[in-house]
Amino acid sequence: MDVYAANVVGSDAYWSKKGRELEALVQQKEFGTAFFTMSFADNHWDDLHRLMPGPKLEPQHRYRNILKNPHLADWYFSERLVIFFKHFFRATLDLEWFWYRFEWQSRTAIHVHGIVKLKNDPGIVDLVAKTYAGKLLEEEMMDSHFVSSLDQEQIEEIRYKITEGKAAEERVIAYADTLQTALNTRDNPIDPMNAVAPDPHPCSIDPTDILENQEAMDQDYEVLANCVQRHVSRPNGYCRNKDTKLCRFHFPKVNQKETKITFSTICKDNVRADIVNARNDPFMNIHN
Ligand SMILES: [Zn+2]
Repeated sequence: MDVYAANVVGSDAYWSKKGRELEALVQQKEFGTAFFTMSFADNHWDDLHRLMPGPKLEPQHRYRNILKNPHLADWYFSERLVIFFKHFFRATLDLEWFWYRFEWQSRTAIHVHGIVKLKNDPGIVDLVAKTYAGKLLEEEMMDSHFVSSLDQEQIEEIRYKITEGKAAEERVIAYADTLQTALNTRDNPIDPMNAVAPDPHPCSIDPTDILENQEAMDQDYEVLANCVQRHVSRPNGYCRNKDTKLCRFHFPKVNQKETKITFSTICKDNVRADIVNARNDPFMNIHN
């Protein structure tokens, strides 16, 4: 029964089979480059609302139509995801492999989480390991007892590894900065709790007319990023831990001038590395 149940989409057996497939993929083809999340401006996409039956002019019509026609909303979302994969991950970023799953929030809103491996990935995992090894050796070299126990050849080797670690760190940071950002191009963004979405909503604007106009494209991006990429942590919001009341995405975050790699020890022989992007806005999500 258990083996057969793996054919039933959404069952525990199905997800454990899909989980094993992902693990096998990572074992055979190495770690993914990036984890992504995509969600849905479901009340603001005119193309989607053209497919809906009944009246659709007023916001409350649109909201009701989404609730009453989840099959249309979900189909449209998955269709856009396929197009996004084709043009962005495949054509622009040179995709090697991917894995993703759809999820539904309590409000029925479909969204997707996934992993992509890009062909131009410089080997982030190995480079980060080299960065860490270099930093450890650098610390050890501060200890004069340790240094005096080494012969010239060992010292040369350690210096080489420290230099190699620094080069690896620079490479990872340069790569991360081309893929993603946490910077806000707006000078003095207001507290997202008080932000009001512009009218018309930037998700409802068709960019076809401004594709050739760089200034208008930059402006469109700025308005979009400020409207949908800044995290709003409401006091009783879904992101708050029930006991600690802390935001589980760690907002607001600390600003920093440059992208860096941080290491934290989880336990013996287990170290966590984070690529922390340069940030000038405590509320900006990391985005492409
Ligand atoms: Zn939050």
